[in-house]
Amino acid sequence: MSWWSSLKEKAKSVGNKLKETWQEVKEAGRKIINNVSERIDTWTDRAERVYNEVKTKIVETYNDAKTKVKEKIKEYKVRSKHPGYVPTKPDQKIAEESKEFLDRKFRRGIRETMRNQTPEERIQTIKEVVKEASHILDVDVDKVDFYQLDSEMGKTCGYFNREENSLNLNAYMITCDRMDLVEEQVYTVFHELIHARQWAAITGKKDYGYTSETILEWANNFVDYVPPTVSDEMYRRQPLERDAFGFEALIKGEYTVEDFVKYNSK
Ligand SMILES: [Zn+2]
Repeated sequence: MSWWSSLKEKAKSVGNKLKETWQEVKEAGRKIINNVSERIDTWTDRAERVYNEVKTKIVETYNDAKTKVKEKIKEYKVRSKHPGYVPTKPDQKIAEESKEFLDRKFRRGIRETMRNQTPEERIQTIKEVVKEASHILDVDVDKVDFYQLDSEMGKTCGYFNREENSLNLNAYMITCDRMDLVEEQVYTVFHELIHARQWAAITGKKDYGYTSETILEWANNFVDYVPPTVSDEMYRRQPLERDAFGFEALIKGEYTVEDFVKYNSK
């Protein structure tokens, strides 16, 4: 071999070595890079999972707290507005029927239905409500009277007169422009007829299936009746009014039988 070709051989072999080494370095580098990116992917996955778990927990805790707060507010309202009211079995039944009737009669709502009625038409609507409510509550009143704002009872929505067995309603509140008052008068019909029913129950005129405890409680209250002028709180708390206002809340859909049982039975 000439010196030249021998030199060439040497150079070639060095070149090959270099090439091989470079290949190895590149291979190793690629491996490292792959490892790192794999690890980064794992970290990202884990971080995302932890983040989602924490987020879900926070949302759950928040919703949980929100539900609990809402429930507490409801409990407070039920117990302060209707202390001790738990609907009797007979009243649960007539409340359901009354609510069904009102939904049927006032499909678009009471206010929307009565808004465009003339005063005469509104009185007529109220008379129809009295008729159906008397039927559902199974009471017969002898007379329905409408009184004016300047009368002795002008500030009240209505009352049941047990001596006359009459239902008396504030005509102004039925015919005025304040639709909240007009709507309230529909519920007043039921409220006052509940008093007619209570009276029929304690005098033994009708047997609606109330327990003797309930009837005795009402009878005692008729003797010691507290008018609203004495104390609004005591007036609303007494058994006759507690049950009449509670019934109203049921048919207005403010609270359900379950609400009253849940919060007032303890
Ligand atoms: Zn009352």
